[in-house]
Amino acid sequence: MQRDPICRMMVDERSATQKSVHEGKTFYFCSSGCKATFDKDPRRYAHS
Ligand SMILES: [Zn+2]
Repeated sequence: MQRDPICRMMVDERSATQKSVHEGKTFYFCSSGCKATFDKDPRRYAHS
């Protein structure tokens, strides 16, 4: 399981359809809304 950096929900990376790669690390999201928020400003969330 991976933590959605936006809403802090746990996401199963095997079934996740929403993901982004930032600085070589893959982030998983519960929804397209969380992914869109991350993609707008990934540096703000990637290291939190
Ligand atoms: Zn989320």
